[in-house]
Amino acid sequence: NGDRIKELIEEKVKEKGLEEEIKVVLTGCFGLCESGPNVVIYPEGVFYSHVTLEDVEEIAEKHLFNGEIVKRILFKEAYEEEKIKPVSEVNFYKKQTRIALRNCGVIAPEDIEEYIALEGYEALAKVITEKTSEEVIQIVKDSGLRGRGGAGFPTGRKWEEAFKYESDKKYVICNADEGDPGAFMDRSILEGDPHSVLEAMAIAGYAIGSDQGYIYVRAEYPIAVQRLQIAIEQAREYGLLGSNILGTNFSFDIELRLGAGAFVCGEGTALMESIEGRRGMPRNKPPRTSHKGLWQKPTIINNVETFANVPIIFQKGVEWFRNIGTEKSPGTKVFALGGKIKNTGLVEIPMGVTLRDIIFDIGGGIPGDKAFKAVQTGGPSGGCIPSEFLDTPVDFESLGKLGSIMGSGGMVVMDESNCMVDIARFFLDFTVEESCGKCVPCREGTKRMLEILERITEGKGEEGDIERLESLSETISSASLCGLGQTASYPVITTLKYFRDEYEAHIYNKT
Ligand code: SF4
Repeated sequence: NGDRIKELIEEKVKEKGLEEEIKVVLTGCFGLCESGPNVVIYPEGVFYSHVTLEDVEEIAEKHLFNGEIVKRILFKEAYEEEKIKPVSEVNFYKKQTRIALRNCGVIAPEDIEEYIALEGYEALAKVITEKTSEEVIQIVKDSGLRGRGGAGFPTGRKWEEAFKYESDKKYVICNADEGDPGAFMDRSILEGDPHSVLEAMAIAGYAIGSDQGYIYVRAEYPIAVQRLQIAIEQAREYGLLGSNILGTNFSFDIELRLGAGAFVCGEGTALMESIEGRRGMPRNKPPRTSHKGLWQKPTIINNVETFANVPIIFQKGVEWFRNIGTEKSPGTKVFALGGKIKNTGLVEIPMGVTLRDIIFDIGGGIPGDKAFKAVQTGGPSGGCIPSEFLDTPVDFESLGKLGSIMGSGGMVVMDESNCMVDIARFFLDFTVEESCGKCVPCREGTKRMLEILERITEGKGEEGDIERLESLSETISSASLCGLGQTASYPVITTLKYFRDEYEAHIYNKT
């Protein structure tokens, strides 16, 4: 309905002849999926939620033309004690720090001038006119930025490795093959702020000595694909992509490659195989992709959220960035908050904020007054964290210690009614489906684990099944070729660790 609501408001504005005074803009996501479609009226920043086509007349007549707030459809927390609260003051946004999502819901993503008006492409101009490659890499290293796609590898080190290898050709890849069920962080950035990713890729190209970038994006994201295409064309028109960018000797262009929905193509080397026209299956490492990546040339691959952080680091400086988050994990992380939670949506929090803050303050807690049971972080191969660890700070190290992962940022909340064995079965079912089949431990081992989990949840579990699951988990984690297999058993390992009694109840009480 968002498109139609925009059209109707535009019609009202036109009828009044106020096109010069009132601009109606379709933006990217505000993060609050649960409350959409949203309409925000500036300069006051009044936030209307669950807007329907029938509400348009009232919004236009009362608010736009007469300055009167339509209380009935104000966002639930934005009107308290007869006072309008700015949206930045409502709990959902108050504890957030929006860096990667800074322009989402703010600018019109199909208009490069809106991005430029908010200092867009200034970082690129500064970099290519004032800095050497070594200086650019040093800034990224000093910032402490770590990859937001899963493993948290230091971005600057990755760029430095690719820079050091001599080659006639090098590549920059943006991994936008977001495949975790329920995750849509990358999609939201690409739909809401595509130029931030293009600008960052050009900076990366300058840093490592590359003139060609690729964005590997899911074909199931048609709006993201369309907005990227528009953004690339606009950037070329403005001399910000292509030959001799801003009149310098630096040339860099970007092409899109569409993925066909295979989860494993989110793995860097499988993604490269796919770009090269082969079936997307992970390669053996070494060699590292920074040495021999796409078409055996030095390549850096970063995900969308990592890139979205880059321009603002150059705009605001390393110190500013390092003051957000923790010592070892500076900056923020975007999470897709879902499951049994009141405020489902996208949240961006400084690293180090606790799980409790995210779930209860930002997320609004569990619906229906039910008790919190666990939260699964990191997508289908993340671990399930129980309530006694709710005060754990969210960063790469802390989640790892609990047996989970940051992953790309999926966060699924479970309440007292969820069976944790069934949750483990559900996620393993996904990884079995998505295993590419190249290596035996993952291809066969995950299937055997799923069979055991299925019989346990059907009340047909046997003595020794828990030990069989533990043994298989260990083998699959240590012997699989890529991250998919190496982490596939995490939901099983963590539920066995924290909710063993539920497995035992199924097996011995035949529940
Ligand atoms: Fe394929 Fe699984 Fe082996 Fe990765 S671990 S290469 S997904 S079979």
